[in-house]
Amino acid sequence: MSAPVYNRVALIGLGLIASSMFWAIKRGGLAGEVTGFARSEATRETARRIGLCDRVYDSAAEAVADADLVVLCVPVGAMGAVAKEIAPHLKTGATVTDVGSVKRDVIDAVGPYLSDGVHFVPAHPLAGTEHSGPESGFAELFDNRWCLLVPVEGSDAGAVAQLRALWEGMGANVDEMDADHHDLVLAVTSHTPHLIAYTMVGVADDLRRVTDSEVIKYSAAGFRDFTRIAASDPTMWRDVFLTNKDATLEILGRFTEELFALQRAIRTGDGAHLHEYFTRTREIRRGIIEAGQDTAAPNFGREAPKG
Ligand code: NAP
Repeated sequence: MSAPVYNRVALIGLGLIASSMFWAIKRGGLAGEVTGFARSEATRETARRIGLCDRVYDSAAEAVADADLVVLCVPVGAMGAVAKEIAPHLKTGATVTDVGSVKRDVIDAVGPYLSDGVHFVPAHPLAGTEHSGPESGFAELFDNRWCLLVPVEGSDAGAVAQLRALWEGMGANVDEMDADHHDLVLAVTSHTPHLIAYTMVGVADDLRRVTDSEVIKYSAAGFRDFTRIAASDPTMWRDVFLTNKDATLEILGRFTEELFALQRAIRTGDGAHLHEYFTRTREIRRGIIEAGQDTAAPNFGREAPKG
């Protein structure tokens, strides 16, 4: 156990990321106290029942009062409204951060509400699952995953260092990045792949020549991994595409060009092109495994599906 990094941390929004943060903070003894708030009574009740947060409040204002760190853990499109609501109740000297998957939009939405006496250090943990809600979190979610800190102009170096210590204490590796670059990198590594997965699952759903039962029964060969990604929270992903529009459209344009090139190679029987392309992509997979960001075990280390 390390010494607490903050006396009091407030989690606003109590879903997958907030609940994982809570368990990771507890595991590491990283905060004296963790308070929480979620907009729905149902989520607050669940949180109280499972011991998520030391205290769950019925208002965001009470949850952030006296907090040294406030973490906005709501969908990207809701960040501005939440910031507006909590701003008058923040303690002078407190740090406000967020975990949103898009950074430029969140900075533009939240920044204007924060007074000079409050530090703003946006962040994004590159870790998640397709599950959501207060019961989906676990302490190990951030272990050996990256958390990107995206300081804004004038972010206090001490506040950044303290937030870095928290994320490192929760098991993450921390890097700093500029907001626009973050949004482009994530469009490549996460946002566009999600869109493609949503599309592929939608296509299979439309393709009535393949019956539903066949899609499910024979899904091990690639499709199953698309379905896992395509099961992600619709609100969160709607907001990601609405707020990281330019970068996603840029990468989608590149994707479409490459897809057409592969389509032509298939039509013209250009095996050399296909082979060269797949050799290159295999190297990228090797790189991810060598960087410790995934397992080399066959089928991601999963047991073979039954039936
Ligand atoms: P989640 O499990 O769906 O939880 C979202 C929380 O936000 C819930 O407590 C929900 O409240 C609250 N909320 C939803 N809409 C709201 C609104 N309009 N106003 C106020 N509160 C609202 O989501 P999550 O996966 O933890 O994601 C939270 C943030 O982390 C998002 O910004 C997302 O982009 C980012 N993120 C997600 C992942 C991932 O893989 N899931 C990874 C990295 C970062 P109720 O429960 O009361 O409805």
